[in-house]
Order: sequence, then C-alpha cells, then structure tokens
Amino acid sequence: MRPIVAIIGRPNVGKSTLFNRFVGKRLAIVHDEPGVTRDRHYADAHIAGRDVVVVDTGGFDPDSDDPMRMGIARHVQAAIAEADVVLCVLDTTASVPADQQAVDLLRRSDKPVLYLANKADTAELEAASSTLYELGVPELFAVSGLHGRGLADVEVALGKVLPPPEPAPAPRDDGLTRVALLGRPNAGKSSLFNRLSGGEKSLVDSRPGTTRDPIDSLVEHGGRRFVLVDTAGVRRRSKVDEGVEAASVLRAIRSIERAEVVVLLVDASEGIAEQDARLLGLCVDRMRAVIIGMNKMDELTPKQQKEVLADARHATRFAGFAPVLGLSAKTGKGVGALVEHVARAAEQFKKRVPTAELNRFFEQVLAERPPPTRGGRAPRIYYVTQVQTSPPVFAAMSNAPANIDKSYKRFVTNQLRKAFGFEAVPLLVHYRKKKRDA
Ligand code: GDP
Ligand code: GDP
Repeated sequence: MRPIVAIIGRPNVGKSTLFNRFVGKRLAIVHDEPGVTRDRHYADAHIAGRDVVVVDTGGFDPDSDDPMRMGIARHVQAAIAEADVVLCVLDTTASVPADQQAVDLLRRSDKPVLYLANKADTAELEAASSTLYELGVPELFAVSGLHGRGLADVEVALGKVLPPPEPAPAPRDDGLTRVALLGRPNAGKSSLFNRLSGGEKSLVDSRPGTTRDPIDSLVEHGGRRFVLVDTAGVRRRSKVDEGVEAASVLRAIRSIERAEVVVLLVDASEGIAEQDARLLGLCVDRMRAVIIGMNKMDELTPKQQKEVLADARHATRFAGFAPVLGLSAKTGKGVGALVEHVARAAEQFKKRVPTAELNRFFEQVLAERPPPTRGGRAPRIYYVTQVQTSPPVFAAMSNAPANIDKSYKRFVTNQLRKAFGFEAVPLLVHYRKKKRDA
C-alpha cells in the first residue's frame, strides 16, 4: 500500500499550493471516459523515489465559534490516525493561536510530522520564519509553495520518515473477491453489512501489529462468497471521522487499495453529492470496479426511484462503466442483484483474454474501421494484447501512437468492453510504438 502523506493547516496557509507542487503533473490522469473535471484533494505522487498518496485535508477553521475548537482537534486526529506522515503547514507571515493548538496535538502523537513554514518567498522571510520555532516545533522547513523554494529539503526529509516499502502482498490463494463498502455516514453501510452477513461476523483477517487493524468479514449471500474489507470502520463509526471528510477519505483510500470491487452506497433521497463523486473519482484513479448502490429506495415512489437512478447515472458519468442500482438494505430488495453485480464485476476485473482471440477480433475491427489519418500519416495498430488483469490493462502496438486520436482510442476501448465483456470495470489501453518489423 502506498504511504499516505496528509497536509494539514488552517485555511490560506498554502496547503493546496503545496499539494499541487508535490503532485505536479501526475494530476493529469487519463481516463477512458469523457471527463468531467473533479475537484482534487488527494492524488498519487512520486516523492523521494516513492509512490505515495498526498491528501490535502482541507484545513480546520480557526475562527469557528466552537469553544472547544473541535475542528482543529478533529482534523489533526484524523490526519494522525490515518496518515503515515503529516505535513503541518504554517504561514511564515502570520501565526495564530490555532496553529499552537495544532502543533501541541501533533507533538503528542507518535506519527512523523514535518513542519513547513510556508510563504518564505525570500531570504528575509526565510530568516523571519524562525520565529515559528516559538510554537515548539523541533524542526522547521522554510518553503515557498508558490515559488518552489525549499521543497527539495522537504522531500529528502520525507524520504527518511516514510515507512519502509512493504513487500508485495502474497498472492491470495483463497480466490475470494475483496469488496469495499463505502459511502457517506447514514448511507446505510452497516445496515447493508448486517443484511449481507446475516448478522454473523466471521473474521477472516485481522492484522494486529499494524496501526490500522483492518478487519475483514467473510460474507455469503445468494450462494456468492466474498470478503468485505475493513468492516471495522463500517460497524463502529469512529468519532474521529464525524464531520471530517479527510478522515473518511483516508480510510476509503485504504479500503479501496485492499479491494477489487467497491460498492459505493448512497442515500437515494439525497442523491450523489460531491463527496460521493470524490470517492468515485478515487476508485477510478485506482482502477477499481465500482457498483453504485442507491439505497433506501423503499422510501421513494416508483417515479422518484426512476428519477433518482437517472440523476445518479448522469452525476457519475465520468465513471460510466460503473452500474447504478437501486436497493433497500432495510427490506432486502435489490440486495441480491447487487451481489450478482459484484460477482460479475469481479469476474471481469480478473479476466484475461488470450492474445490470439484479441488478434482475431481486432483484425476484423481494424479492417472495417482503421484509425483515421492524421498529420499526413496513417497510424496503424498492429495488434492488441492484454498486459495485465485486476484491473484489465491492454497494450496496442502502433507505428505512430501519437497520431491516434482520442475518439479512436475511445472506440477501441468500447470495442474491447463490448466484445470481451468488460462492461462494468475500468479498462486501460496503452498505445505503444513498435516498428513494423521489430
Ligand atoms: P490553503 O487554503 O491552505 O489550501 O491555501 P492556498 O494554497 O489556497 O493558498 C492561499 C493563498 O496563499 C493563495 O493566494 C496562494 O497563492 C498564497 N500562497 C500559497 N503559497 C504561497 C507562498 O509560498 N508564498 C506566497 N507569497 N503566497 C502563497
Ligand atoms: P451507515 O452510517 O452508512 O452505516 O448507515 P446505517 O446503516 O447506520 O443507516 C443509517 C440510517 O438509515 C439508519 O437509521 C437505518 O435504519 C437507515 N437505513 C439504512 N438502510 C435503509 C433502507 O434501505 N431504507 C430505509 N428506509 N432506511 C434505511
């Protein structure tokens, strides 16, 4: 699993500027579906030679009327609980009492924390940043997110505190599909969990010794067996999570990484909200199979149900492969269909198509509709091969991959989906250069 680096700090200190610096070009992830721009608060990045996930926690509110300033505590605790390293961003030009509180909380945790004095744009400001040592931080990195100053030092320091890379997980020999059940609070996750598990909790995998202790549950429903991952978070809602989106996002990242199929549960009467779209975006980036379950359909009239499903399909069109289903965890209606979709998605996710079969099919497709000429040159696709399963990834060998346009790529992807039954999973096609005789 990729280590998580959480960026925390109050608003306007420069968190998102730093986030963009760290994440850089990696934000431009190409999806095979026509895109909708999504707000990004987390992204994969390559820092200090390591693949990490950077999360911008959004910031606590130092001006809140809340006497306990719980916003700060919740944010800090969420970051501490779920992240591997915390970057605490301070503003060189202004320090407020909320910063002190955040620092105090961070100092008490055992997670590595790097303190950044941001907006140190000039040598003078860099010198001035040392006043922030008054907050009691052990070490300060004077940086400028805006100009990129000082970030190399942060990267080196980060490299030292990241947890050592984990060995690749042992291949699972149980053949069971791992399913993550995600959704906002009150979507009905624990109700669905109870229905799927028939109230019984059979723990197949707890990993003491890790700080996060995910607990997986083996469930059997309608003759299908699968493993629901990280059900500890589903069953007992953590106090830390409440009201802090970043906490659930961090937890969701963990769950998604451990699963092949994600069930995104949504309260049908509320519809797809921004947070659902973000979770979905996370699944798309991770190339996980997703099923969107509109729950609590029992509360709606048939007409409303229809509308809810149509709206949800529209709102999630950037992940057009993900089926949208209606269900009721309460009455059980639609739960069987959901389970069938999970099984089907898992099958597609793991499926491998032999190259010979792909060749036979594509010979015909390419003869009927070759890539259009571009730049005076007719690009050719020589053959397509599946280079990976779980998720399915293909490589298309071409003499001029740069000349194959987007709409043609979409066409190829759709052909693959239709012909070989990859309708419900994300699917990637790489275009690689190959000389004719090579
Ligand atoms: P966030 O609310 O913590 O995510 O802060 P933003 O990244 O949105 O930045 C808040 C404001 O501070 C923006 O106007 C940024 O352009 C500015 N800012 C961010 N980093 C720097 C910096 O290193 N130097 C200066 N001078 N301004 C910065
Ligand atoms: P979680 O926070 O996602 O785990 O949600 P819960 O399973 O705790 O459910 C939140 C509330 O919604 C509870 O009051 C449930 O009884 C209710 N609920 C869950 N599923 C359904 C459903 O299918 N129909 C109706 N009407 N209520 C439901």
